[in-house]
Amino acid sequence: MDYKNYITVVENYPKEGIRFKDITTLMQDGEVYKKAINDIADFAKDKDVDIIVGPEARGFIVGCPVAYSLGLGFVPVRKEGKLPREVVKVDYGLEYGKDVLTIHKDAIKPGQKVLITDDLLATGGTINATIELVEKLGGEVVGLAFMIELTYLDGREKLNDHEIFTLMQY
Ligand code: 5GP
Repeated sequence: MDYKNYITVVENYPKEGIRFKDITTLMQDGEVYKKAINDIADFAKDKDVDIIVGPEARGFIVGCPVAYSLGLGFVPVRKEGKLPREVVKVDYGLEYGKDVLTIHKDAIKPGQKVLITDDLLATGGTINATIELVEKLGGEVVGLAFMIELTYLDGREKLNDHEIFTLMQY
């Protein structure tokens, strides 16, 4: 399957010079969305994963159906002020901006094996912050899975210690 046929590249969004990869056109096709999720679930199958973690908002679009398909739980990582109970937080840099990410303090039990999912790996800032949150809670990250990797931003170099699965690269 050439998943790239289902991604729409939007020029100059959200700002000048960015070529935004829009995954909503992939999600609109039930068969393709299902295959994408199944491919990621297959990657996770031999990793003895206990729980899936994904950053808002597009990490949910990938992580929740993967968790459902594997019969596992899902933990949301969210921007500051969005989670209702006690959180652990971390500052991070984005491809375009800066922010704070948080996770519920009781979301991961020490020693749990975690698969982290997101739609896209760009600079790696978001996923590094998510790894840091999981590790602060004592979780063990056993894999990182994305629909898309922007290889020209070298995000992968920041994630050397982790096994990475992607459906397509630009
Ligand atoms: P990073 O932190 O790796 O630089 O950026 C990745 C994060 O930004 C992901 O959470 C992703 O949702 C968002 N992002 C950055 N660029 C794009 C893009 O072109 N398309 C989509 N769908 N998300 C992007």
